[in-house]
Amino acid sequence: MTLELQGIGVSRGIAIGRAHIVFHNQPDVREYIIPSFSIEQEVARLSNANELAKQQLLSIRDHIPTNAPTDVSSFIDTHLLMLNDSSLTTVPIDMIRTRRCNAEWALQLQRDALINVFNEMDDPYLRTRQDDIDHVVNRIHRLLADENVLEHEIPDGRLKGHIIIAEDLTPADTVLMQHQGIAGFVTEHGGATSHTTILARSLGIPAIVGVESVRRYIQDNEPLILDGELGSIIAGASDTVTSEYQHRLTAFRQHTASLSRYKAQETKTKDGKAITLLANAELPEDITMISNAGAEGIGLYRTEFLYMNRTSPPEEEEQLAAYRDVIESMNKPVTIRTFDLGADKTVDGGRSHGATVTNPALGLRAIRLCLNQPNMFKTQLRAILRASAFGKVKIMFPMVSTQQELIQAKSQLNSCKQELNREGVSYDHHLEVGVMIEIPASAVCAEMFAKQVDFLSIGTNDLIQYTLAIDRIDNQVNYLYDPLHPAVLRLIHMTLLAGQKHGVDVSMCGEMAGDPRLTRLLLAMGLSTFSMHPNAILEIKQIINETDLSKLPSDALQILDMDDPFEAEYLLENINASN
Ligand code: PEP
Ligand code: MG
Repeated sequence: MTLELQGIGVSRGIAIGRAHIVFHNQPDVREYIIPSFSIEQEVARLSNANELAKQQLLSIRDHIPTNAPTDVSSFIDTHLLMLNDSSLTTVPIDMIRTRRCNAEWALQLQRDALINVFNEMDDPYLRTRQDDIDHVVNRIHRLLADENVLEHEIPDGRLKGHIIIAEDLTPADTVLMQHQGIAGFVTEHGGATSHTTILARSLGIPAIVGVESVRRYIQDNEPLILDGELGSIIAGASDTVTSEYQHRLTAFRQHTASLSRYKAQETKTKDGKAITLLANAELPEDITMISNAGAEGIGLYRTEFLYMNRTSPPEEEEQLAAYRDVIESMNKPVTIRTFDLGADKTVDGGRSHGATVTNPALGLRAIRLCLNQPNMFKTQLRAILRASAFGKVKIMFPMVSTQQELIQAKSQLNSCKQELNREGVSYDHHLEVGVMIEIPASAVCAEMFAKQVDFLSIGTNDLIQYTLAIDRIDNQVNYLYDPLHPAVLRLIHMTLLAGQKHGVDVSMCGEMAGDPRLTRLLLAMGLSTFSMHPNAILEIKQIINETDLSKLPSDALQILDMDDPFEAEYLLENINASN
């Protein structure tokens, strides 16, 4: 009998293989009292487990393939940092001594306390940090329970070609399993933006998350088919279905391999319209991948990394060095976005303000926070201006919603220019200034912004979140996150029209720009500059180069008026099947 289960497809691709079910439930943690003469022994037990956990993670990090994206090691580094943090070292040890409780219990109490703090903050970024705490604490708990080596950490080739079925996977699990040649994975928990799924996409592992109770329905070693695009997992498939998927798998592999030929080609539709493909960068180390993908520049350089995992803000010189590095290694235009920090990501970890606001996504963040902290903002503006002396740089302000914000931001930029003039420091006097259109109000008033900037860039991730009033990483409302919602499409269209009317370039740097299903629709709407994750560039280039704009269905833009999502999907299929 065929069984088909549905989840959220978070990493594309097809996997055909046998199930390997991972049962590493949290060990049963109970409290018991330690006799006073054994307390130091208990402390040593916890310290040893902590040390062993570090050794394990260091050895996992050593296994990361050299060509893996930097995300991979940075997730492991986050866990290593936590293992060195006093909240997981000293605090539980103090508890063992003061409460005379066992190591497991002390660790559990501290885990609960940390999770509670994060729960109160109710912030998307910190919510992902909760998973990290659980992953780290779990590892120590398992080591305390004497599970010295986890099954999937034994590199004996047992997992090769298997589809992993687990309650949840840590980023470290994902790296190790990829190293062991797994075909794909399915988890009961996790959302499309968790660290593990971001990793799966970067490493090219087909993956599905959020398949409730999957371990109850699937038998160990049972043959399975995983479709990472549709988010479906099929057990007991007939021979016909299996061979159909086998064909699709072969086609998918051929397709991926064939994309490399597009690297040297220009990006142009069949009827000759030139399109610009740019990359989004998060970390300086992303530059290699970006250059390999043949991007024509960086359309969104997220600078928040400069603020992460530290307690003091980065100085001007440090920022200048970071920007200059990227500009010089790219040797192509780089659009630097000023800090898009939220209430949780201020210099002091949010203690001074904002950490407990009810709706952090609607609070003091991005340009609002920059204008609220002019010294911090000026430091960054000076660094960007100075960096512009070393290559083509553009500056972009995130989350602008009013004209006043733009005026203030530009006036800060001007006063920095004047300072640099007085100091005799060189910078690009023609540096282009743009704003992100990621709030519905800004899309509606895109013309107002277009008149005052050199370019607009549509941030669809936030635009969808704010237009549809759904938290972009909340599992419970993820199903409403719909790029094809007519309200979203109309706002995008309005922005594109505003750009055309005022002769201002409009790019798109949200995830929609890198979604191959939407490329033709966006072309039909008039988008000509796309900025995306470097992994997506060649596939999008292929679609563009195989599109004749004059042959797209003449009713393509009727999708903007379609209230029925099924009709919209149908039209989208027609658009994609045309040509
Ligand atoms: C966006 O909102 O679409 C965007 C590109 O910015 P970020 O994802 O960094 O918020
Ligand atoms: Mg955004």
